[in-house]
Amino acid sequence: MTVDVNMSVLRSSNDISVNDSAVTVNGWIQDIRNLGGISFVILRDRYGTIQITLPKKKIDPELFEKITTLSRESVVSVTGEVKKSDQTELGLEIIPSSFELHSDAAVPLPMGVIDKVNVEMDTRLNNRFIDLRKPEVRAIFELKSLMLELLNEAMVSNGFLQVFTPKIVESGAEGGATLFKLDYFGRPAYLAQSPQLYKQMLMSTGLDRIYEISPAFRAEHSNTNRHVTEFISFDGEMSWISSQSDVMKMIESIVDHILSGLKEKGKKQLKILGKEINVPPVPYPVLTYSECLGMLASKGMHLKEGDDLGTEGEKLIGDIMLDKGYEMYWIAEYPELEKPFYIMEKDGTPFSFSFDLDYKGQEISSGGQREHRYDKLAERMRKKGLDPESFDFYLDAFKYGMPPHGGWGIGLERLLVKMLDLPNIREAILFPRDLSRLSP
Ligand code: ATP
Ligand code: MG
Repeated sequence: MTVDVNMSVLRSSNDISVNDSAVTVNGWIQDIRNLGGISFVILRDRYGTIQITLPKKKIDPELFEKITTLSRESVVSVTGEVKKSDQTELGLEIIPSSFELHSDAAVPLPMGVIDKVNVEMDTRLNNRFIDLRKPEVRAIFELKSLMLELLNEAMVSNGFLQVFTPKIVESGAEGGATLFKLDYFGRPAYLAQSPQLYKQMLMSTGLDRIYEISPAFRAEHSNTNRHVTEFISFDGEMSWISSQSDVMKMIESIVDHILSGLKEKGKKQLKILGKEINVPPVPYPVLTYSECLGMLASKGMHLKEGDDLGTEGEKLIGDIMLDKGYEMYWIAEYPELEKPFYIMEKDGTPFSFSFDLDYKGQEISSGGQREHRYDKLAERMRKKGLDPESFDFYLDAFKYGMPPHGGWGIGLERLLVKMLDLPNIREAILFPRDLSRLSP
């Protein structure tokens, strides 16, 4: 009898009960070492590697010749006997009796899988199918998937309904400069920058807590390590809030669930990456925008009220907060002029009920209390140079009964990148899109 196993089964089989029968393992030939009288083939699958040991004298000569001359990264099934071995990392080896070649890898490879040479990111992304064969690259995406699992768990337990809003839209929400225009049967249309307007419209229906996880498209014209043109946005909107603090508390509980869950359930991947997750205690400290200006001034960076904190300002605040022991913190009450039309003004002041969540010196989320009063909202639109009439589809939802509400958008890759201290957001996207990259 032959048992088909993957390497996770072999890894967890303490008593190698599979020892009684022949096993078949499927995978990629990672390496072949020929030492004269004996040869070793390292076979890899999603879960790890196993050594195929070929003592020349004990193996059929034809089989020996065929296996040991295979090219690296060829895909095979190897059948043989599992033996205990002190010589291998797994404590096991396979003595083959037969094998099947499914796909012969061409030589040379466009890049190596195990070679310790430093390959440029562009080369890696051009050959992403090979790059993703590396366990340390795959671990990032396993953690990303786990993150989504935890996120859904947190949302369900808080009574949120998952929704999907259109990604082909007639108008943007986050400013014209980053809109991707397309031809929609002869009419202009755009790729959605965020689900903002639709999330809010849903608040008028009585679906009082909703969330969406979907791609967001931004025509970002600058090349940075934290901007791409397509990212996964995790958006939430909730009704009946009494202030933006209700939204902030909700985000804290979700982010905390994700971080502590990953620390616990992602141990294997974190070990492969050589990383540890520090779970910041909730609640996170709140700085106001005005306080940030003061903190920056004390470090010699002088901004005027109304100025954007900018990448450098955000970084500097991050350093100051890290010195105080905080990796995660809020920056609240931005000038209303800085914020989109849908944010609620703090009456009688130049500020607004808005916040960013910053993690190690970088924004990972923006949110706030929304303006739910029709007249004020239309007025804010006009103030921002927008024509309320062209937003009728949205404004109508406010005209006929809208509860007070607030919400957020979190860039999922930004959260992951900061959590794992990755150098570039592209590390957390399988096939990134940016200013120059459209393929693969
Ligand atoms: P930034 O100022 O950092 O470019 P933003 O304020 O323009 O971000 P928002 O419109 O507030 O972005 O979007 C909400 C969240 O979406 C951001 O906090 C960030 O996590 C994420 N995000 C925005 N733009 C991008 C992008 N181009 N690439 C990746 N993530 C992004
Ligand atoms: Mg923002």
